[in-house]
Amino acid sequence: MSTQSTASTCCYCGVGCGVLIEHDGKRVLDVAGDPAHPANLGRLCSKGATLHKTGDLAARALYPELRLGKGLSRSRTDWDSAMSHAAEVFGRTIAEHGPDSVAFYISGQLLTEDYYCFNKLARALVGTNNIDSNSRLCMSSAVVGYKRSLGADAPPCSYEDIEQSDCLLIAGSNMAFAHPVLFRRLEAAKAADPSKRVIVIDPRRTDTCEIADLHLAIEPGTDVALFHGILHLLLWEGWIDRDFIEAHTDRFDQLKTLVRDYSPAITAQLCGISEDDLHSAARMIGTAPSFLSLWCMGLNQSSAGSAKNNALINLHLATGQIGKVGSGPFSLTGQPNAMGGRETGSLSNLLPGHREAGNAEHRAEVAEYWGVDALPANVGLSAIELFEGVRSGRIKALWIACTNPAQSMPNQTLIHEALATCPFVIVQEAFFTTETCRYADLLLPAASWGEKEGTVTNSERRISHVRSAVAAPGDARPDWAIVCDFARRLEKQLRPGQPSLFDFTSPAQIFDEYKALTAGRDLDYSGLSHALIDTLGPQQWPFNAETGQGTARLYSDGIFATDNGHARFVAEPYRAAQETRDAQFPLILNTGRLRDHWHGMSRTGTAAQLFGHVEQALLSLHPDELRRRNLNEGDLVRVSSRRGELILPVESDAQISPGQAFLPMHWGDRFLKGLGSNVLTQPAFDPLSKQPELKQSSINIAHA
Ligand code: SF4
Repeated sequence: MSTQSTASTCCYCGVGCGVLIEHDGKRVLDVAGDPAHPANLGRLCSKGATLHKTGDLAARALYPELRLGKGLSRSRTDWDSAMSHAAEVFGRTIAEHGPDSVAFYISGQLLTEDYYCFNKLARALVGTNNIDSNSRLCMSSAVVGYKRSLGADAPPCSYEDIEQSDCLLIAGSNMAFAHPVLFRRLEAAKAADPSKRVIVIDPRRTDTCEIADLHLAIEPGTDVALFHGILHLLLWEGWIDRDFIEAHTDRFDQLKTLVRDYSPAITAQLCGISEDDLHSAARMIGTAPSFLSLWCMGLNQSSAGSAKNNALINLHLATGQIGKVGSGPFSLTGQPNAMGGRETGSLSNLLPGHREAGNAEHRAEVAEYWGVDALPANVGLSAIELFEGVRSGRIKALWIACTNPAQSMPNQTLIHEALATCPFVIVQEAFFTTETCRYADLLLPAASWGEKEGTVTNSERRISHVRSAVAAPGDARPDWAIVCDFARRLEKQLRPGQPSLFDFTSPAQIFDEYKALTAGRDLDYSGLSHALIDTLGPQQWPFNAETGQGTARLYSDGIFATDNGHARFVAEPYRAAQETRDAQFPLILNTGRLRDHWHGMSRTGTAAQLFGHVEQALLSLHPDELRRRNLNEGDLVRVSSRRGELILPVESDAQISPGQAFLPMHWGDRFLKGLGSNVLTQPAFDPLSKQPELKQSSINIAHA
């Protein structure tokens, strides 16, 4: 068969690059950047460019596998038996213990149509809000930040703002590694216009800092103090937009009173930076014609994640730098479809169409649309709570899809205990090699990138059509098809004799049902369809039938998504992280991405080429810390936190401040002695977003 080209999107990060899949109908042969896709304009990073090398069949889950008792091995089975068994166990569990005895833990890597089916299954059929996703670990603080300040979970900017901004502030993001194609766009823009100012806020001097005019290496976790200190100076210097504040915002006086306490001297001391640098940052922001901020996990993965998001958004509202070309607060999403998950309601507290599970009116709207009496009002469990519920025995049947909590969740000791003791665990996965698969009582093989169809939304609200190029191997099926097959069987127990809610035959049909739930909402994309995306190309929401076009920038009219149309300043004082240094644990551990790996490496770990960048997990420490402990590079150390320990080699890294340590997030217990990087990290979470503080744990090290 001759070579063909299928346009699709990369399955890794939230940049959402367009790819052209070269294939012969059976195998993916090569991948190229799609020059027609607005996100990447033909560029790809090392991960995207090697996608065709990561489909290793030896690592793929090919057939359903079932075991009928803990401690037994799983045996291959067929789909009919697997689905009947799953429906029987879930049905029995719900009958005996109620709908909240089951839970679903899904993923920012699912497609929008997959998400929608899972949500409908949990809320409309099972009757539980116990459905959460790994986006809880990723973006939930940004969700709260946007909603509190602007009234809706909607990043208001576009990637083209990166090129058009005069001053960019990158906070808590190693964009050069985590969002490489966007970083290349920034590099090119700065090369073309060196007057563009870039400020990077990061305790580590990462590769992203290479482009910075000013690097603020703050003490870990002090971002709120820094943003308040900058606002203090903006006020002092008169670099705020009083007309904008007056006309378009509320609650500024409260914030003004709060930031009086964040004088340059106090802020500089709290943040561990110089007053001169603080003044420089304020001057760059306050005098720039346009100001864009970009942030990621450094702000979000924190017990003060919501406050950090809001303190940064405050700077935009105070300067009126929002809704304009080159300006606005722009959160970068980590996963390819974390946005789609938020849109379809895939956090326990949400419902489709940016609705709230805790809002009776919203529940009634969705219930009526789905044709069910009511949706559950009980508060659903967020990721950390959900696994605590599994360990305590409250959750008796757990369905995990397209994510690897036995590697990615904090406090791995608890997670492994929970999974080992849960009476029934379904794992729906493309790769059987993940740490979580070993806990599966039922393993369901899922189709993966290049094999399935649907849509994803990237960081700039752009919806792309993900297309399949080749058939899934073995008996693997698309995620939505697995969910619908199961749901139709469970319906026979829970809704006997009633028409099915899951009679979907294609992702396009699912999209058409779902999109109506966005009508009239802030994200309204009821005017879109798979076919229209194919005609017009990827589109940014809102995109309704009336306008017939996407929207590059939100709030250009100064009207926000709040009840009165005003944005809200949020005044919250700086709070220290849950764990700081002490005599027993004198180092602060930061975890994060490497350039060439993705999450738990189920996919990137199959490509030798991607190990060329960094071959093994290393604990990075400042040379002074090594000297103080009489350690040399490559020495094995025992790293301990209050939750567990790991043994791994150290490396010397002068880009890390003394008193801090860095560990890549990718290595689980398949690769490391101990339960992987996250055996050390902590489950403390932000009270509003419930996002855990993966970025800051206190540790100690000793010779192994
Ligand atoms: Fe894929 Fe992200 Fe790289 Fe683009 S930047 S090719 S979406 S990993």
